[in-house]
Amino acid sequence: MVEKMNKTTIEEKEIMRLKAIKAMNYAFSVNSNHNIGACILTNNGNFYEGCNVENSISGLGNCAERNAVNNAVAHGEYSFKSILVIHDGKDPVYPCGMCLQYLLEFSQVSQSDIEIIMCNLDGKEQKSTVRKLLPHGYYTDEKSHNLSKFRGFD
Ligand SMILES: [Zn+2]
Repeated sequence: MVEKMNKTTIEEKEIMRLKAIKAMNYAFSVNSNHNIGACILTNNGNFYEGCNVENSISGLGNCAERNAVNNAVAHGEYSFKSILVIHDGKDPVYPCGMCLQYLLEFSQVSQSDIEIIMCNLDGKEQKSTVRKLLPHGYYTDEKSHNLSKFRGFD
């Protein structure tokens, strides 16, 4: 696996932060009342937002991070540089294990790590990467899952 990752610029981060806040304000947080927004930056330089969408049926909701990924995929984007996650709480929030595993598969598609920027509205910020936060994640078998089909779009 090739380890490469381009750092998110200050300008890109500011765009992501504003888009993530906008999405956060649309969160459908019927269970937790905990609003989270995310914005993913593709290696093509495009931005896609997501927010948490909960449901009264337990387990049926989806996190902001995965909704941002799904938004990008719906636009034909599979190669991601970074994702910013923001919420209205006291401290920056980390992506859950499911979201990390979800992102890890796309890091296999792009053959590069994905930077994760976690922040809150007060300006607190932490940075990491998918592979640092999920060092022993499940790596998809290249041959049986045809990841290469989704390369070359950027
Ligand atoms: Zn999650």
